Amino acid sequence: MPSHRYLVVGGGMTGHAAAAAIRELDPRGSLAMLAAEPDRPYARPPLSKGLWLGKEESSVWLAPVPGLELAAGRRAVSLDTAAHELADDAGESWRYEKLLLATGGRPRRLPFGGDRVVYFRTLADFHRLRSSAGRRVAVIGAGFIGSEIAAALAQAGKAVTMIFPEGSIGERVYPAELADFVTRTFRERGVALHPREMVTGLEERGGEVRLRLSSGGEVAADAVVAGLGIEADTALAERAGIRCDRGILVDAELRTSAPDVWAAGDVARFPSPALGGAVRVEHEDNALAQGRAAGRAMAGAAGPYRHLPFFYSDLFDLGYEAVGRLDARLETVASWKTPFREGVVYYLEGGAVRGVLLWGLFGQVEAARALVEGRRPVARADLPRAIP
Ligand SMILES: Cc1cc2nc3c(=O)[nH]c(=O)nc-3n(C[C@H](O)[C@H](O)[C@H](O)COP(=O)(O)OP(=O)(O)OC[C@H]3O[C@@H](n4cnc5c(N)ncnc54)[C@H](O)[C@@H]3O)c2cc1C
Repeated sequence: MPSHRYLVVGGGMTGHAAAAAIRELDPRGSLAMLAAEPDRPYARPPLSKGLWLGKEESSVWLAPVPGLELAAGRRAVSLDTAAHELADDAGESWRYEKLLLATGGRPRRLPFGGDRVVYFRTLADFHRLRSSAGRRVAVIGAGFIGSEIAAALAQAGKAVTMIFPEGSIGERVYPAELADFVTRTFRERGVALHPREMVTGLEERGGEVRLRLSSGGEVAADAVVAGLGIEADTALAERAGIRCDRGILVDAELRTSAPDVWAAGDVARFPSPALGGAVRVEHEDNALAQGRAAGRAMAGAAGPYRHLPFFYSDLFDLGYEAVGRLDARLETVASWKTPFREGVVYYLEGGAVRGVLLWGLFGQVEAARALVEGRRPVARADLPRAIP
């Protein structure tokens, strides 16, 4: 049975960041990674952005970690935390001293449509969508993934139709006037929109797909992509009796309820004073920083994870960076240099800044972090000057 000092389950950005951090602190400790996908670790964000706009596919590969034994295409299926052993789907058992669960998330699926719908998450999904015949693509959902992939496909010359339950794109995140502007931008860029609609069924007819809409209408397409959000992939942890609650629960040092088992990235629910409780974050900066922190902790450099992650998105020529809680239900104060092109939106709760949206404004993440971490009431009149 292979036996390793460090074993990482999950070959995503978190698992990779952890492995790299372990290697920095412990150049010789034996280190292995079980990765369900067939590929070596790669960056996901370009899949819904640059790769459609001419960026080289080879740019996604993450730097190899020296001495890492990568078992790609292997899924861990059972875990015995008392024995410090796990088994994979090829029937092999692995022994570890320290284990990281970086199993990320699985896309939510529709109850119909089967393989005709691409749930856009992996490099294999990118390949499938890129190689699909025909120009017409229907995108279900207008969250982060739906809106990004729709914009990228439209820029790549596809005829894109979006179907989503909200009244506008980003309705739950941006203040109403910004969501309206974003929605207008999609229309102006040629994306056909079906707001306030659910997809209720899917039929294949002569090579094309027909989506039935809740209003009774229909959308015909050659390919269908869905971005309906993800659920934390806690299956392995739950079967092993590790405490989970819509994510694997970890303490401030990213330890799970089982001895010598850590969790990080999209799958982990961690205590964040700045974000106000136990949260799960599904963004790159958290995957990288938390993966790194977990790797360091496993290699003996423990300390609380206090990082307040930022996140970002690109939609046509619009883009942003953001920190904290972006929830359109909070009170918002917008300060525009150029309306809807460059400015800051502050999200307030109890008079304190809970989130900051840096719209078309880059290099101000630290200032935004300081505001959110301050957690002190801020005078509304001072806000426009808070981030120059
Ligand atoms: C298309 C796309 C675009 C994105 N764009 C942005 C962006 O612009 N900005 C931003 O901040 N964030 C973005 N994100 C989010 C960011 O990429 C994720 O937060 C990050 O990749 C999460 O990494 P992870 O390793 O925690 O989880 P995952 O990426 O989900 O990786 C987990 C891996 O573990 C594997 N696995 C699961 N269970 C097992 C098991 N039992 N055994 C072995 N392997 C297992 C899975 O197959 C998967 O490969 C984007 C995500 C996607 C999909």
